[in-house]
Amino acid sequence: MAKAVGIDLGTTNSVISIMEAGEPVVLVNSEGNRTTPSVVAFKEEQRLVGQVAKRQAVLNAKGTIFEAKRFIGRTWDEIQHEAERAPYEVVQGKDGGVRFVVGDERFTPEEVSAMVLRKLVNDASEQLGQKITKAVITVPAYFNNAQREATQNAGKIAGLEVLRIVNEPTAAALAYGLEKKGSETVLVFDLGGGTFDVSVLEVGDGVFEVRSTAGDTHLGGSDMDYAVVNWLADEFKREYDVDLRKDKQALQRLIEASEKAKIELSGLPETTISLPFIAMDPASNAPLYLEKKLTRSKFEELIGSLLQRVRGPVEQALSDAKLKKEQIDEIILVGGSTRVPAVKRLVKELLGKDPNQTVNPDEVVALGAAIQAGVLTGEVEDIVLLDVTPLSLGVETKGGVFTKLIERNTTVPVRKTETFTTADHNQTGVEVHVLQGERTMATDNKSLGRFKLDGLPAMPAGMPQIEITYDIDANGVLNVGAKEKSTGKEASITIQNTTTLAEDEVDRMVKDADRHADEDKVRRENAEAMNQLDALRLQGEKAITEAEGATDEQKAPLRAAIDDAKSALDAQTPKAELDAKGQTLASALQTFMQATQTTPDDGSSDGGATGQAESNAEADDDDVIDADFKPAGS
Ligand code: AMP
Repeated sequence: MAKAVGIDLGTTNSVISIMEAGEPVVLVNSEGNRTTPSVVAFKEEQRLVGQVAKRQAVLNAKGTIFEAKRFIGRTWDEIQHEAERAPYEVVQGKDGGVRFVVGDERFTPEEVSAMVLRKLVNDASEQLGQKITKAVITVPAYFNNAQREATQNAGKIAGLEVLRIVNEPTAAALAYGLEKKGSETVLVFDLGGGTFDVSVLEVGDGVFEVRSTAGDTHLGGSDMDYAVVNWLADEFKREYDVDLRKDKQALQRLIEASEKAKIELSGLPETTISLPFIAMDPASNAPLYLEKKLTRSKFEELIGSLLQRVRGPVEQALSDAKLKKEQIDEIILVGGSTRVPAVKRLVKELLGKDPNQTVNPDEVVALGAAIQAGVLTGEVEDIVLLDVTPLSLGVETKGGVFTKLIERNTTVPVRKTETFTTADHNQTGVEVHVLQGERTMATDNKSLGRFKLDGLPAMPAGMPQIEITYDIDANGVLNVGAKEKSTGKEASITIQNTTTLAEDEVDRMVKDADRHADEDKVRRENAEAMNQLDALRLQGEKAITEAEGATDEQKAPLRAAIDDAKSALDAQTPKAELDAKGQTLASALQTFMQATQTTPDDGSSDGGATGQAESNAEADDDDVIDADFKPAGS
């Protein structure tokens, strides 16, 4: 098979790498550099990519597109804020997506990314003396399906066959762990130009298993640059009453100077930002100069609140992996922004140990992508990569409860089957509502789709055995199937976009779940108590129907308890009251059955009234009854 490359398509810089003699190596571009700025410029008839595009950005602010990755696969509503601060023109496309406007032309983020990819691949082909057509491309772990698909399309537009989209931290761990023999728990801390990802992995003996992943897709080095830009612009405005942010060219110069100052401050205690002729004085029409000293401590103050935002995802990743910080063997830093001394300090403070300094944060992701490309082309053997699904998946069950089948951070591919049953007598169909999220109640989660399984034979509630299967493949595509066992009736749905959630939505859903945990618990317990009471009601009604010789006198107390239960079956009824009605109904049912000497035909061998009441009580911790069907055996 032809060789395939690994590409780290970064927000700020991109890197291309390939396997050579069993080792991944970075390929230099035509300018002789190992990293290529992810910048494209349109100048008269010319298209410039990489360093040459970056170099002319100030003079051609409106025609120079950088950070296209911030916009890829996203809708206008998601990026409006970021669009406003860009020195180039960003507008909404007819499809609700994003377009960059340069002169009379419009470009999608995919097209711009494809131009960067094409340069990387063309330069690499030249260097290798053979045409490259296949690639593995990396994306932030928290990229949703739309962003992944758009990245894949960028590859296609560049004429590449994209063998796989791999998560950046996973790629970094692959590169780090290639030679590792023993088993290690590794935390990858990836702070790049535009995004922050943290992943916990088990690495060793050729197996790379992602235990958890978390992140923030609005946090990166350019946010630090903008913190400096805003400080400079505010100071300038105070002094001269001119807002530099309103002039595209001045803004572009401010952004570049701020990034340069930030990078210098990684090595120096202070730096000076000088921008001559940055604006004209509106009063005197004389040119204005910007000259400002920035110390490292002032810079750290400016980015203080940004840095605090890495805490949450780090804690989340540790708790999802069920690990304490002491159990992390190695911390791998990825992304240019981890060079900021305050970031390194914060990592040490959060995790209690120094990060590993042996990997190059700019190159490690591309090297890992090359290894994965080698695995897929058969060049690298004995490596298994196990990635995870970022959010839980499940089904709506009775009482509007969200019943999870697959927990978030479960390794994919994964297949899970659970058996459900009907909640009402003679129910001939069920609706399967597929959901994704972390909240307890269905309505608070993201609906991915619904389908019906009809044509069930008329049976008493609880009799049909409906198997629901969730199947996620290696590319994150979810298949849900439902099958009724006695008839063999089947129905299914395929959901391409299991992660088509705006990343904001992913963040929000996880945070919401934490915030509402107590409230959700109450609602879930209420729904469960209602379900139990309803199940008892059904049993009671059945017992009355089936007890042929029972007298009205014997039936009356049970009927009263049933009627009382019915009137209490309301979401507003407190749990304690539902439980009390359940107790009364259970004992009325028991008394009735002892008096009439019947046993309820509930499918269980010992199904006495008390037994049933107990088994319902036990169901407390199990899955919950569905909107119109419920787990079998509860
Ligand atoms: P990446 O997306 O990994 O290429 O990271 C790019 C980000 O890292 C940009 O925001 C750069 O400004 C930033 N960066 C690169 N080198 C340094 C450095 N020495 N100190 C601070 N930030 C840096």
